[in-house]
Amino acid sequence: MIELPALPYPQNALAPHISERTLEFHYGKHHAAYVNNLNKLLANDATSGADGTPSLETLITNAGPGAVFNNAAQVWNHTFYWQSINPDGGGEPNGELAAAIDASFGSVDNLRTELTAKACGNFGSGWTWLVRRAANDSGDGGPELAVVNTDDAGNPIVDGHQPLLTIDVWEHAYYLDYQNARPAYMATLLEHLINWDFAATNYAS
Ligand code: MN
Repeated sequence: MIELPALPYPQNALAPHISERTLEFHYGKHHAAYVNNLNKLLANDATSGADGTPSLETLITNAGPGAVFNNAAQVWNHTFYWQSINPDGGGEPNGELAAAIDASFGSVDNLRTELTAKACGNFGSGWTWLVRRAANDSGDGGPELAVVNTDDAGNPIVDGHQPLLTIDVWEHAYYLDYQNARPAYMATLLEHLINWDFAATNYAS
């Protein structure tokens, strides 16, 4: 059984930036449905169950395109998203993460600009991520960190990248509060909610 993880804060804690109503649906309906759908799929899979439920990371890496991947990745992505935002978020990163951001993007403002551009340019439903690039890219002279988009349920661990932060750009993440104004959702998220401490913890791991 895959469990729905508890939210790291109360459902009204992100208001007024993201409303309790959005959390009721986004966490209580959407995230919960991905958990329930995945458990049904695994229960119907004779290869899982007796030996225990595979980890979400194993399912994401090995499932290949299809319903198991979609639901496993959506469970993982949402759990990661709830930690990527926080009522005490916003502000500036510091320490080793800040140095890595400066080295890869030139400045934190440049990173915020790129996150906004990528999120607003992510056509349809998907996710925008800050990642440490795959180890097999490290010899190419490219930056250590990058902003990448995935479509639908996509997750950058499939390509070997380490997620540091994610932003949900599915309309269900913002439509009740911002309607179609994804740029306004992004501006508020970056100013008030983004959890640099979570990214720093991931960067240090
Ligand atoms: Mn979502």
